Amino acid sequence: MNALAATTRNFRHACRLINVDQKLEMSLLIPFREIKVECSIPMDDGSLVSYIGFRVQHDNSRGPMKGGIRYHPKVNLDEVNALAQLMTWKTAVMDLPYGGAKGGIACTPKNLTKSELERMTRVFTQKLQDLIGTNIDVPAPDMGTNSQTMAWILDEYSKFHGYSPACVTGKPLELGGSLGRESATGYGVVISTEALLNEHGKSIKDSTFVIQGFGNVGSWAARMIHEKGGKIVALSDITGAIKNPNGIDIVELFKHRETGGDLSDFNGGETMDPDELLFQQCDVLIPCALGGVITSGNADDIKAQFIIEAANHPTDPEADEVLYNKGVIILPDIYANAGGVTVSYFEWVQNIQGFMWEEKVVNKFLIQYMRQAFRDIKDMCHTHNCSLRMGAFALGVERVARATILRGWEA
Ligand code: NAD
Repeated sequence: MNALAATTRNFRHACRLINVDQKLEMSLLIPFREIKVECSIPMDDGSLVSYIGFRVQHDNSRGPMKGGIRYHPKVNLDEVNALAQLMTWKTAVMDLPYGGAKGGIACTPKNLTKSELERMTRVFTQKLQDLIGTNIDVPAPDMGTNSQTMAWILDEYSKFHGYSPACVTGKPLELGGSLGRESATGYGVVISTEALLNEHGKSIKDSTFVIQGFGNVGSWAARMIHEKGGKIVALSDITGAIKNPNGIDIVELFKHRETGGDLSDFNGGETMDPDELLFQQCDVLIPCALGGVITSGNADDIKAQFIIEAANHPTDPEADEVLYNKGVIILPDIYANAGGVTVSYFEWVQNIQGFMWEEKVVNKFLIQYMRQAFRDIKDMCHTHNCSLRMGAFALGVERVARATILRGWEA
């Protein structure tokens, strides 16, 4: 099932659970605006190439729309639509004053030079500049984009609208970025994992972990789990996978990577077939790479008791059902990976205030928001006797529905 069908199915299920009126359900589902733009740029060799960019603005009833920009060859309107919708429910679950959006350009960023990436980003921003902004729609980094990309967006946008640091988040610190933003998603994953384990009488220190993906989210999550005494018994990235039943030394792995080494040639573990990673014996499995990796075809082989969805949409709805029936507890993406958008919100607030917070203040608020959202989801689960995923969807959808009705929506 593709990401849009899966997200829509979860949304509709949540609507049934909380009795959303059918006309309102349709209105909440349909995106506010879908944008498709052509970005032609001269390449370094003088040739002209066209890239297709998308921005889907899903809902703005709770505030400006918010969501990342992804550069990846598989970016398409359906996927962007699904991710924009997920952002609407995610910001509402976290009770941030935002709606949801997502964007992207279908391209292979590793095949583009820095100057080609810059030209493409600037043309994309020119095409979107009158449809995004501090109080309209605030982009952020996602797969294939980073703080440099956000700096180019800020610069291009400001040519049209004057200096506007709050028009984009995930910026470099020198341009109004927030302390703690880089680690925020991984840190949020760890805070949410801790909340879930504690609820089940367990802790990070007494648990074993398997992590798929060692990029921004996976590496920060691994580092913090290791610091808290958790044992990471298997780990993978695009270069391969390693395992060590005694726990992988993440500090040594970071040193190895800093000297240019790949995960697959790190000698602190035994190399293994990456396809076997998800099925390793462990307490907690954390997918931190691609969507759609847990399917009805492999869900039965998963041995973890808990799955923390750090990646967006890693579990198919069919797999969700298999795992639920097996008693596996899944912490859903719209909560587990919300640390990033939460600190993006803090960055936006700091930009509007014209004031920079200390990192400990950022982290203190992040912990507060993550723990409060966990309690709110649990309350929903108790009220409706449902899974954490349905509790989170019901919470997000209910908050957005309430805002929509208060603004004057009538059946
Ligand atoms: P990233 O590009 O920094 O890292 C991705 C990692 O996945 C890399 O280590 C890469 O080697 C690995 N990977 C790619 N293909 C793989 C494969 N087939 N098997 C194993 N590993 C593979 O991306 P990121 O920012 O860490 O994002 C990871 C996931 O988290 C995505 O689903 C993203 O949408 C989601 N997410 C990210 C953020 C954020 O703030 N970065 C916020 C919310 C959600």
